[in-house]
Amino acid sequence: MSDLSWVDVNLELPWVLGHEFTDVEEEVGKEVKNFKKGDRVIVPFSQGGGSCEQCLSGHHTICDNLEMMGFSYWGGFGKYTAIPNADLNMVHLPESVGFEEEASVGCRFMTSFQAVTEQAKVKPGEWAAVYGVGVVGLAAAHIANAARANVIVVDISQEKLDLAKKAGAAVTITVKKRTRGKQYMK
Ligand SMILES: [Zn+2]
Repeated sequence: MSDLSWVDVNLELPWVLGHEFTDVEEEVGKEVKNFKKGDRVIVPFSQGGGSCEQCLSGHHTICDNLEMMGFSYWGGFGKYTAIPNADLNMVHLPESVGFEEEASVGCRFMTSFQAVTEQAKVKPGEWAAVYGVGVVGLAAAHIANAARANVIVVDISQEKLDLAKKAGAAVTITVKKRTRGKQYMK
């Protein structure tokens, strides 16, 4: 089981899960300025309070007082959910993007975006290697390609490598499955 001790988790049943969703605004709080009823929105998995050093420097998804829907409070599988600090934590969903496509962006793309742009600081023209193209790795390949890097992806699954190619990977490398600590390249 994941170590979530760094989050204020209190999953007393009954509980509503759901940490990736998009939806239409049903109602907004009095202090919300940037959204109105009927707006299509997406919500990142990790949400900020707005006042800590991380939030003030624009990194509210790594807030010191992080809230995570589906863990800190009831999530997106319910008919309704209330998003705290909506002006900070919600994003308008463009009409050109469908709900299903966008629902996957709030967690895995957000995670990969931080890794590619903030941690690795990938620049145009650089080579960037992504080891393992599950959903987070595939998003990392997509984002690094959008950052105009030359992306190398490494995985044991040809199917996943083919997907990464569609997401813009310049080079794909197939490795054989790890067997008792030994790994072999083709
Ligand atoms: Zn904060």
